[in-house]
Amino acid sequence: MTFIPILAYHKIQKTFDFSVTYITPRKFEAQLKYLVDLGYESISLHDYISKKNIYGKKVIFTFDDAYASVFEYAFPLLTKYNFKASIFVITQFVGKPNRWDYNFLKKGLGHCNWQQINTLASKGWEVGSHTVSHPNLKALSDSQVRYEVNTSKSILEDKLQKPINIISYPFGKYNERVLEKVKEAGYLCGCTLGYNYPHDQNFPYAIFRRGVYLAEPFKLFQLKLQNSRLSHLDDVKQKFITFCSQGSILLRYFKSI
Ligand SMILES: [Zn+2]
Repeated sequence: MTFIPILAYHKIQKTFDFSVTYITPRKFEAQLKYLVDLGYESISLHDYISKKNIYGKKVIFTFDDAYASVFEYAFPLLTKYNFKASIFVITQFVGKPNRWDYNFLKKGLGHCNWQQINTLASKGWEVGSHTVSHPNLKALSDSQVRYEVNTSKSILEDKLQKPINIISYPFGKYNERVLEKVKEAGYLCGCTLGYNYPHDQNFPYAIFRRGVYLAEPFKLFQLKLQNSRLSHLDDVKQKFITFCSQGSILLRYFKSI
Protein backbone atom coordinates (compact mmCIF):
# COMPACT_ATOMS: atom_id res chain seq x y z
CA MET A 1 0.00 0.00 0.00
CA THR A 2 1.36 3.37 -0.92
CA PHE A 3 1.44 6.05 1.72
CA ILE A 4 -1.89 7.85 2.14
CA PRO A 5 -1.61 11.27 3.78
CA ILE A 6 -4.38 11.94 6.29
CA LEU A 7 -4.68 15.68 6.75
CA ALA A 8 -6.28 17.31 9.79
CA TYR A 9 -7.80 20.77 9.51
CA HIS A 10 -9.83 22.84 11.93
CA LYS A 11 -11.07 26.24 10.76
CA ILE A 12 -11.01 27.58 7.23
CA GLN A 13 -11.64 31.29 7.61
CA LYS A 14 -10.74 34.70 6.26
CA THR A 15 -10.73 36.47 9.61
CA PHE A 16 -7.64 36.57 11.76
CA ASP A 17 -7.53 34.81 15.10
CA PHE A 18 -4.76 33.98 17.50
CA SER A 19 -5.11 30.23 17.32
CA VAL A 20 -2.72 28.37 15.07
CA THR A 21 -5.41 26.05 13.87
CA TYR A 22 -6.94 27.95 10.99
CA ILE A 23 -6.00 28.50 7.39
CA THR A 24 -7.47 30.93 4.87
CA PRO A 25 -9.79 29.75 2.07
CA ARG A 26 -7.20 31.01 -0.41
CA LYS A 27 -4.42 28.90 1.05
CA PHE A 28 -6.75 25.93 1.29
CA GLU A 29 -7.73 26.25 -2.36
CA ALA A 30 -4.06 26.41 -3.41
CA GLN A 31 -3.51 23.10 -1.61
CA LEU A 32 -6.53 21.51 -3.32
CA LYS A 33 -5.39 22.73 -6.73
CA TYR A 34 -1.96 21.29 -6.13
CA LEU A 35 -3.43 17.91 -5.18
CA VAL A 36 -5.72 17.86 -8.23
CA ASP A 37 -2.82 18.73 -10.52
CA LEU A 38 -0.85 15.80 -9.13
CA GLY A 39 -3.81 13.49 -9.72
CA TYR A 40 -4.84 12.92 -6.09
CA GLU A 41 -8.31 11.62 -5.22
CA SER A 42 -9.88 11.67 -1.79
CA ILE A 43 -11.01 8.54 0.02
CA SER A 44 -12.86 8.03 3.31
CA LEU A 45 -11.52 6.66 6.56
CA HIS A 46 -13.86 3.71 6.05
CA ASP A 47 -12.15 3.04 2.72
CA TYR A 48 -8.80 3.38 4.42
CA ILE A 49 -9.44 0.87 7.22
CA SER A 50 -11.13 -1.62 4.93
CA LYS A 51 -8.36 -1.13 2.33
CA LYS A 52 -10.82 -0.09 -0.38
CA ASN A 53 -9.81 2.35 -3.15
CA ILE A 54 -6.36 2.67 -1.63
CA TYR A 55 -4.26 2.34 -4.77
CA GLY A 56 -2.96 5.28 -6.73
CA LYS A 57 -2.62 8.78 -5.31
CA LYS A 58 -5.06 9.07 -2.43
CA VAL A 59 -5.54 11.63 0.30
CA ILE A 60 -7.91 11.88 3.26
CA PHE A 61 -9.22 15.26 4.47
CA THR A 62 -10.48 15.47 8.04
CA PHE A 63 -11.94 18.40 10.00
CA ASP A 64 -12.03 18.41 13.79
CA ASP A 65 -14.60 20.38 15.84
CA ALA A 66 -17.08 20.92 12.95
CA TYR A 67 -16.72 24.69 12.74
CA ALA A 68 -19.32 26.56 10.72
CA SER A 69 -16.46 27.87 8.58
CA VAL A 70 -15.93 24.34 7.27
CA PHE A 71 -19.43 24.40 5.86
CA GLU A 72 -19.04 27.96 4.59
CA TYR A 73 -15.62 27.68 2.90
CA ALA A 74 -14.18 24.15 2.89
CA PHE A 75 -17.29 22.36 1.69
CA PRO A 76 -17.79 24.41 -1.53
CA LEU A 77 -14.06 24.37 -2.31
CA LEU A 78 -13.71 20.63 -1.81
CA THR A 79 -16.83 20.07 -3.92
CA LYS A 80 -15.37 22.29 -6.67
CA TYR A 81 -12.35 19.98 -6.91
CA ASN A 82 -14.37 16.81 -6.53
CA PHE A 83 -13.07 15.95 -3.05
CA LYS A 84 -14.93 14.69 0.01
CA ALA A 85 -13.94 14.85 3.64
CA SER A 86 -14.61 13.52 7.12
CA ILE A 87 -15.90 15.84 9.81
CA PHE A 88 -15.75 15.21 13.57
CA VAL A 89 -18.55 16.73 15.60
CA ILE A 90 -18.65 17.76 19.27
CA THR A 91 -22.30 17.06 19.96
CA GLN A 92 -22.71 19.58 22.79
CA PHE A 93 -21.52 22.43 20.58
CA VAL A 94 -23.58 21.81 17.47
CA GLY A 95 -24.97 25.20 16.37
CA LYS A 96 -23.21 26.94 19.29
CA PRO A 97 -20.06 29.04 19.79
CA ASN A 98 -16.73 27.56 20.81
CA ARG A 99 -15.87 27.85 24.49
CA TRP A 100 -12.45 26.23 24.76
CA ASP A 101 -10.30 27.99 22.17
CA TYR A 102 -9.11 31.14 23.81
CA ASN A 103 -9.67 34.02 21.45
CA PHE A 104 -8.60 37.56 22.11
CA LEU A 105 -10.99 39.15 19.67
CA LYS A 106 -14.14 37.12 19.66
CA LYS A 107 -16.12 35.30 22.31
CA GLY A 108 -16.20 32.11 20.35
CA LEU A 109 -16.45 30.76 16.84
CA GLY A 110 -19.57 29.11 15.60
CA HIS A 111 -20.05 25.43 14.94
CA CYS A 112 -22.12 23.80 12.22
CA ASN A 113 -25.76 23.22 13.07
CA TRP A 114 -27.56 19.91 12.55
CA GLN A 115 -28.94 20.97 9.18
CA GLN A 116 -25.43 21.72 7.88
CA ILE A 117 -24.04 18.45 9.24
CA ASN A 118 -26.93 16.59 7.63
CA THR A 119 -26.21 18.32 4.31
CA LEU A 120 -22.55 17.26 4.46
CA ALA A 121 -23.56 13.68 5.26
CA SER A 122 -26.02 13.66 2.35
CA LYS A 123 -23.23 14.86 0.00
CA GLY A 124 -21.06 11.89 0.88
CA TRP A 125 -19.02 13.35 3.71
CA GLU A 126 -18.16 11.00 6.54
CA VAL A 127 -19.37 12.15 9.95
CA GLY A 128 -17.71 11.05 13.15
CA SER A 129 -17.68 11.82 16.84
CA HIS A 130 -15.34 14.29 18.51
CA THR A 131 -16.98 13.47 21.89
CA VAL A 132 -19.78 15.30 23.71
CA SER A 133 -17.83 18.15 25.32
CA HIS A 134 -14.25 18.07 23.94
CA PRO A 135 -12.35 16.99 27.08
CA ASN A 136 -8.90 15.46 27.33
CA LEU A 137 -10.16 11.86 27.50
CA LYS A 138 -7.00 10.71 29.27
CA ALA A 139 -7.87 12.83 32.29
CA LEU A 140 -11.38 11.39 32.75
CA SER A 141 -12.68 8.50 34.85
CA ASP A 142 -13.82 5.34 33.10
CA SER A 143 -17.48 6.28 33.36
CA GLN A 144 -16.82 9.80 32.05
CA VAL A 145 -14.93 8.40 29.04
CA ARG A 146 -17.79 6.00 28.43
CA TYR A 147 -20.26 8.91 28.54
CA GLU A 148 -18.21 11.02 26.10
CA VAL A 149 -17.75 8.28 23.50
CA ASN A 150 -21.09 6.46 23.82
CA THR A 151 -23.43 9.43 24.15
CA SER A 152 -21.88 11.41 21.28
CA LYS A 153 -22.22 8.31 19.10
CA SER A 154 -25.88 7.78 19.90
CA ILE A 155 -26.77 11.49 19.51
CA LEU A 156 -25.13 11.56 16.06
CA GLU A 157 -26.82 8.31 15.05
CA ASP A 158 -30.16 9.68 16.16
CA LYS A 159 -29.74 13.03 14.36
CA LEU A 160 -28.28 11.60 11.13
CA GLN A 161 -30.14 8.30 11.07
CA LYS A 162 -27.04 6.31 10.19
CA PRO A 163 -24.38 4.31 12.05
CA ILE A 164 -21.51 6.43 13.38
CA ASN A 165 -18.34 4.46 13.90
CA ILE A 166 -15.40 6.83 13.56
CA ILE A 167 -14.03 9.09 16.29
CA SER A 168 -11.31 11.71 16.62
CA TYR A 169 -9.77 12.24 20.07
CA PRO A 170 -9.89 15.85 21.34
CA PHE A 171 -6.35 17.31 21.31
CA GLY A 172 -5.32 13.98 19.73
CA LYS A 173 -5.00 12.57 23.25
CA TYR A 174 -5.75 8.98 24.18
CA ASN A 175 -4.35 6.06 26.15
CA GLU A 176 -5.00 2.32 26.40
CA ARG A 177 -7.99 2.89 28.68
CA VAL A 178 -9.58 5.30 26.20
CA LEU A 179 -8.97 2.91 23.29
CA GLU A 180 -10.70 0.14 25.22
CA LYS A 181 -13.84 2.24 25.78
CA VAL A 182 -13.84 3.37 22.15
CA LYS A 183 -13.73 -0.26 20.97
CA GLU A 184 -16.44 -1.26 23.45
CA ALA A 185 -18.68 1.53 22.13
CA GLY A 186 -18.47 -0.06 18.66
CA TYR A 187 -16.24 2.41 16.84
CA LEU A 188 -14.24 0.98 13.94
CA CYS A 189 -11.43 3.50 14.09
CA GLY A 190 -10.05 6.47 16.00
CA CYS A 191 -7.90 9.38 14.82
CA THR A 192 -5.12 11.07 16.70
CA LEU A 193 -2.83 13.95 15.74
CA GLY A 194 0.85 13.47 15.08
CA TYR A 195 2.90 10.36 15.14
CA ASN A 196 1.98 8.39 18.21
CA TYR A 197 1.92 5.04 19.94
CA PRO A 198 1.43 2.54 18.45
CA HIS A 199 3.32 3.69 15.38
CA ASP A 200 1.66 1.07 13.25
CA GLN A 201 -0.61 2.84 10.76
CA ASN A 202 -2.53 -0.39 10.30
CA PHE A 203 -3.79 -0.12 13.87
CA PRO A 204 -7.16 1.56 13.27
CA TYR A 205 -7.67 3.08 16.74
CA ALA A 206 -4.70 5.44 16.58
CA ILE A 207 -4.63 6.64 13.01
CA PHE A 208 -2.09 9.43 12.84
CA ARG A 209 -2.94 12.58 10.96
CA ARG A 210 -0.93 15.58 9.95
CA GLY A 211 -2.33 18.94 11.01
CA VAL A 212 -2.29 21.74 8.44
CA TYR A 213 -1.69 25.22 9.87
CA LEU A 214 -1.65 28.80 8.67
CA ALA A 215 1.94 29.78 9.33
CA GLU A 216 3.39 26.89 7.36
CA PRO A 217 5.09 27.45 4.00
CA PHE A 218 3.74 25.56 1.00
CA LYS A 219 6.85 23.37 0.96
CA LEU A 220 5.80 21.96 4.32
CA PHE A 221 2.37 21.09 2.96
CA GLN A 222 4.12 19.19 0.15
CA LEU A 223 6.15 17.32 2.77
CA LYS A 224 2.99 16.27 4.62
CA LEU A 225 1.99 14.25 1.56
CA GLN A 226 5.12 12.14 1.78
CA ASN A 227 6.41 9.37 3.95
CA SER A 228 9.98 10.59 3.94
CA ARG A 229 12.41 11.08 6.79
CA LEU A 230 11.99 14.83 6.46
CA SER A 231 8.21 14.63 6.67
CA HIS A 232 8.54 12.79 9.99
CA LEU A 233 10.14 15.93 11.38
CA ASP A 234 6.76 17.53 10.81
CA ASP A 235 5.22 14.74 12.89
CA VAL A 236 7.54 15.64 15.75
CA LYS A 237 6.37 19.25 15.47
CA GLN A 238 2.75 18.03 15.47
CA LYS A 239 3.43 16.11 18.64
CA PHE A 240 4.68 19.32 20.23
CA ILE A 241 1.58 21.23 19.08
CA THR A 242 -0.64 18.46 20.47
CA PHE A 243 1.24 18.71 23.76
CA CYS A 244 0.79 22.49 23.86
CA SER A 245 -2.86 22.40 22.79
CA GLN A 246 -3.79 22.16 26.46
CA GLY A 247 -2.38 25.68 26.74
CA SER A 248 -5.62 27.16 25.53
CA ILE A 249 -7.35 25.44 28.43
CA LEU A 250 -4.85 26.96 30.85
CA LEU A 251 -5.55 30.42 29.43
CA ARG A 252 -9.24 29.83 29.90
CA TYR A 253 -8.59 28.80 33.46
CA PHE A 254 -6.57 31.91 34.26
CA LYS A 255 -9.20 34.04 32.62
CA SER A 256 -11.91 32.52 34.76
CA ILE A 257 -10.15 33.02 38.10
ZN1 LIG B 1 -10.94 19.32 18.65
